[in-house]
Amino acid sequence: NNVLKNSDKAIFDLIGEEARRQEEHIELIASENYVSKAVLEAQGSVLTNKYAEGYPQKRYYGGCYYVDQVEQIAIDRIKQLFGAEYANVQPHSGSQANQAVYFAVLQPGDTVLGMSLAHGGHLTHGSPVNLSGKLFKFISYGLNDKEEIDYAEVERLAMEHKPKLIVAGASAYSLAIDFKRFREVADKCGALLMVDMAHYAGLIAAGVYPNPVPHADFVTSTTHKTLRGPRGGIILAKEEHGKMLNSSIFPGLQGGPLEHVIAAKAVAFGEALEPDFKAYQEQVKKNAVVLAETLIKRGLRIVSGRTESHVMLVDLRAKGITGKVAEEVLGNANITINKNAIPNDPEKPFVTSGIRLGTPAVTSRGFKEAECEELGNMIADVLENPDNQAVIEKVKQQALALCGRFPVYQ
Ligand code: PLP
Repeated sequence: NNVLKNSDKAIFDLIGEEARRQEEHIELIASENYVSKAVLEAQGSVLTNKYAEGYPQKRYYGGCYYVDQVEQIAIDRIKQLFGAEYANVQPHSGSQANQAVYFAVLQPGDTVLGMSLAHGGHLTHGSPVNLSGKLFKFISYGLNDKEEIDYAEVERLAMEHKPKLIVAGASAYSLAIDFKRFREVADKCGALLMVDMAHYAGLIAAGVYPNPVPHADFVTSTTHKTLRGPRGGIILAKEEHGKMLNSSIFPGLQGGPLEHVIAAKAVAFGEALEPDFKAYQEQVKKNAVVLAETLIKRGLRIVSGRTESHVMLVDLRAKGITGKVAEEVLGNANITINKNAIPNDPEKPFVTSGIRLGTPAVTSRGFKEAECEELGNMIADVLENPDNQAVIEKVKQQALALCGRFPVYQ
């Protein structure tokens, strides 16, 4: 079917080029994944035509009979997946899910405790360049000498500043987070607890990473990382907070929900309820461990010493290469990664001394331990020879061969 090709060749060609890039590059960006063809089909559907402000059975528009059912299925599935009492599947993104919780429970100027961006937190956890940091008084916690979350510091800061809300969760932290410990601190200082599980959601759904839902007042997430759904967000909570959170998303922050994306979320949540999703997430973790161990054998340091999830930060200083250069040369060898600051990084944020690697996408295309060991050695070969075109070309050929053996969509 050549409809787009005939009507808009420029966009058709670029989509084709991007599809080829995804097939031919090894994707190690920890926050990316490949959705199923079923998810793509649902998102590319006529549901994009429908306005449906409000919630199922309570809409401000007529004709919502079918989208009501779609959204209710998405809600029911995500609640089942995480054992939650309440779910909102309308947030357009993870950032908006976080904002919705902030606007539901905070007033401008209120104190919040969140993880520092420099130690692995997310922009929306109080960075001064983000609305969260501009509107609220965020106090930051970070990692201790062992590069583990400094729970003692969390407690000390909580008792000193008496935040209204504590935010747990991270974008670049490889270890299991002790959500029970956060709950205890929140109870002790009288704060509410929000967990942003965006990075770990898929692992949590599969039961291979601690579930924050029993401990937190609010759990937010993206749907497009380890959870392997379309780009978007969700909020989970205790039923008692439901009304306030619904109002915070609509009409508080957003207008009409993206029902085509919600349909795609429903499909992805259905896939995550299947038994082979657990096997997938177990493999994601095994692959991350092998990748980390291979890099350690090749003389690189993993921040926090190891990974207990899908993600790791690699300290590049032993190889005398910056994150910026590593990102570029690995890209030339068809290995896609992102530069990332390491804790107490001496380099500027646009340069960095580290890279962040994650295994969700390579595992989706079928990589197992053997491929991840090969991949770790390929990465080390490039990092040790950033100026050697022959090495980069050799690794690129290895990458193309691996990608050829494990197609994403064919
Ligand atoms: N929260 C965490 C922990 C994240 O890592 C991210 C994305 O990188 C987000 C929130 C924001 O999600 P989005 O890019 O959908 O706004």
